[in-house]
Amino acid sequence: LGFDGLGLSDEVLAAVRDLGYTEPTPVQAAAIPEVLAGRDLLAAAQTGTGKTAAFLLPTMCRLGHVAPRGERRRRARGRGPLMLVVTPTRELAQQIEDICARVAEHTGHIAVTVVGGVGYNPQRSALKNGCDILVATPGRLVDLIGEGSCSLSEVQVLVLDEADRMLDMGFLPDMRKIVGATPDDRQTLLFSATLDEKAVGAVTDLVRDPARVEI
Ligand code: AMP
Repeated sequence: LGFDGLGLSDEVLAAVRDLGYTEPTPVQAAAIPEVLAGRDLLAAAQTGTGKTAAFLLPTMCRLGHVAPRGERRRRARGRGPLMLVVTPTRELAQQIEDICARVAEHTGHIAVTVVGGVGYNPQRSALKNGCDILVATPGRLVDLIGEGSCSLSEVQVLVLDEADRMLDMGFLPDMRKIVGATPDDRQTLLFSATLDEKAVGAVTDLVRDPARVEI
């Protein structure tokens, strides 16, 4: 059966084939239908379980797809992201960006990544050009919001990746600022190694009537 029957679009299924995935991992099989149905999600999944594709495949499906690419680029110009993925480290942001780019070859979405430790100007101009999907680490994103370079007012889907790790790293105030800048009626997906109260209790109020996925 593979990925057929989960409800993914033909474009995203073509991307799955390109990525070389044949069978969904358990977290993908459980999460994809819930996300496609528009539900919020609380998911316990560690690195290595396929969690990145578990949130990118159905969300990029839900954002819709527009070809050809040139048309999409014009339409994205000056626009804020429709989807935001917040992740604790540059390395994770890079991994997310890589899979996102592979899927975007089929869906036509424009993705931008903003992380700390590199120059601000390329990130400012990328945001100014507009994007569909923004992948970000919390500190840099808060800086860019603060100076007015980034608006989250059009965000429809918010992903908090490795939320437990972000909390461990002291990012709770930044996470709250970021979420506060997104619309209340967004879809929110929260991924964490565990869903213990101790690990993520400080942020579980950010999801609404979530589907729980624990594998
Ligand atoms: P992640 O848990 O997102 O860090 O993914 C771990 C690794 O598994 C990455 O290299 C993915 O490309 C790969 N992966 C994700 N989903 C699948 C799948 N369904 N089949 C084979 N490999 C996968």
